[in-house]
Amino acid sequence: MIHNLGQEGFQQVHASYYDKLEIDLKMPLYLGCTSFTQLSAVLGLVILKARFGWSDKSFTDLLVLLKTMLPKDNMLPKSHYEAKKILCPVVMEYQKIHACPNDCILYKNQFVEIHNCLTCGVSRYKLNNDQCNDDGSTKKIVQQRFVGIFQ
Ligand SMILES: [Zn+2]
Repeated sequence: MIHNLGQEGFQQVHASYYDKLEIDLKMPLYLGCTSFTQLSAVLGLVILKARFGWSDKSFTDLLVLLKTMLPKDNMLPKSHYEAKKILCPVVMEYQKIHACPNDCILYKNQFVEIHNCLTCGVSRYKLNNDQCNDDGSTKKIVQQRFVGIFQ
């Protein structure tokens, strides 16, 4: 649904993010490791953590143990917090971006604060008259969230 977004501005917005992501995606778990990148290793472990309901503390202990089993210069995070920091850019960028209903722009970086699309002028929000905030103002509903991987 975002494949119309060939504008240069849009690409510039994402260039630095892609640079970082590309480095992250290619970083091997340790020098010479071909089966896991840092990211795929962390992702695999975090999926197990979620599936079996491991506590954050037990996950940190597991990471510490695994880290000592791997070659010295390995990139495995040594805590749950560090693992989250590695995954966060991916998870957040891919899931929580508001988008113009006409697929013109994504509301991120310098567009985070604006309320109307710079290209087509359509509002980012629709007003829901049936729902009010605590202060009596009308609740703003985001028209469209972009979820998924954009290229
Ligand atoms: Zn638009």
